[in-house]
Amino acid sequence: MKIAMIGTGYVGLVSGVCFSDFGHEVVCVDKDPRKIEMLERGEVPIYEPGLDTLMAKNVEAGRLTFTLDLAKAIEGAEAVFIAVGTPTRRGDGHADLTYVMAAAEEIARAAKDYVVVVTKSTVPVGTNAKVRETVAAANPDLDFDVASNPEFLREGAAIDDFMKPDRVVVGVETDRAAKVMEGIYRPLYLRDFPIVTTDLESAEMIKYAANAFLATKITFINEIAALCEKVGADVKQVSKGMGMDGRIGNKFLHAGPGYGGSCFPKDTKALARIGQEHASPMSIVETVIKVNEDTKRRMIDKLLDLCGGSFNGKTVAVLGVTFKPNTDDMRDAPALTIVPAMVGGGAKVRVVDPQGRREGEHMLPGVDWATDPYRAAEGADLLVILTEWNEFRALDLTQLAGSMASARMADLRNIYSPEDARRAGFTAYESIGRSGFD
Ligand code: NAD
Repeated sequence: MKIAMIGTGYVGLVSGVCFSDFGHEVVCVDKDPRKIEMLERGEVPIYEPGLDTLMAKNVEAGRLTFTLDLAKAIEGAEAVFIAVGTPTRRGDGHADLTYVMAAAEEIARAAKDYVVVVTKSTVPVGTNAKVRETVAAANPDLDFDVASNPEFLREGAAIDDFMKPDRVVVGVETDRAAKVMEGIYRPLYLRDFPIVTTDLESAEMIKYAANAFLATKITFINEIAALCEKVGADVKQVSKGMGMDGRIGNKFLHAGPGYGGSCFPKDTKALARIGQEHASPMSIVETVIKVNEDTKRRMIDKLLDLCGGSFNGKTVAVLGVTFKPNTDDMRDAPALTIVPAMVGGGAKVRVVDPQGRREGEHMLPGVDWATDPYRAAEGADLLVILTEWNEFRALDLTQLAGSMASARMADLRNIYSPEDARRAGFTAYESIGRSGFD
């Protein structure tokens, strides 16, 4: 089948590459010439493990190409996927649909034959109907259907998630569109990965409900962690004991500095906004948003305490700034709240991140970038672990403590234990939801 993919970001590029690996002929389009030039040179503009190899394989096989020319890309395509960004609109929390609607209009103007216009971007309920109206208004003679196909992949594990999904959700209005979507996902269906077929509105809602639920689960354990610190419980033991209950499950139960990333912050805000617009308040989600902000602020207080009440004149080494490991994505990372608070308070901050520097350099002004944790920690007053990259999981803590001016650690991902830190010579250690020492 021939497929066009609009947008070569984290979702569009991974989906395009994986569809081509299914055997489909895929043309990926972006309006950013820098990205298309890189892709044409065989370079991947984002960091996603395994993507470079899979992309090269399918380019080599002649199934995957890249272009700036949307009209050319959709020539003969049975489906065209919209995988552009839907960031938070300034001011009101609503998802900004400018890019989705612009793509829909461009498709309408370029399409000649029957095509299914599939929205893969995360969009509020009712958007696919708006896409349908937009396409019909821009090209009244065009024979087309719309489909909603929200994406559930996680950055850092995107290829595996796409190739082995828990489920694929497809919202359609006609049998004809359902057949096209079935054809596209047939390789997964044959391998017993379930496809959930719904109406457009339910598909749109599934995505927001799923993300808001996961954000709630993380926020719940973060709030339990805060209480654990007060009552002397250990949140690691608590989440282990909770997660063994099959009704709860152990995923998304790791306490940390607050959720971030390109999806949870914006999708929870958008869902809260949808609730307000329909006079059906999403009170739980609204509280989750607030508690998550409080969680990030609580982290700053923790660091401030470890610095004796003031960041001024302190040197802090920060390990990890991306919102999670195995990605270069910095969007809404907790680091963007926590690091500027330290810099603003007069700290000299040194940052190390295996992939975050390219994005992070302009988002974190006033910090120094170091190449490894040991260099960053030399002469520092505080070591902060913000992202649990594998590289930071087996550090020589004795060497680190020995090289610091004041051996204090804030382990905001609970990678180490108070015992590890004490043994290595740290004089203060704080983590999340467990007693530390000072
Ligand atoms: P992104 O910002 O990484 O990529 C979007 C791309 O679309 C950019 O390269 C941009 O240049 C391009 N673009 C915008 N308008 C265009 C147009 N008219 N024509 C051609 N290209 C255009 O975004 P992303 O992280 O891939 O997210 C895309 C959507 O998928 C969002 O709605 C997001 O919520 C959703 N989503 C993201 C993830 C994730 O982990 N990133 C997971 C599931 C769903």
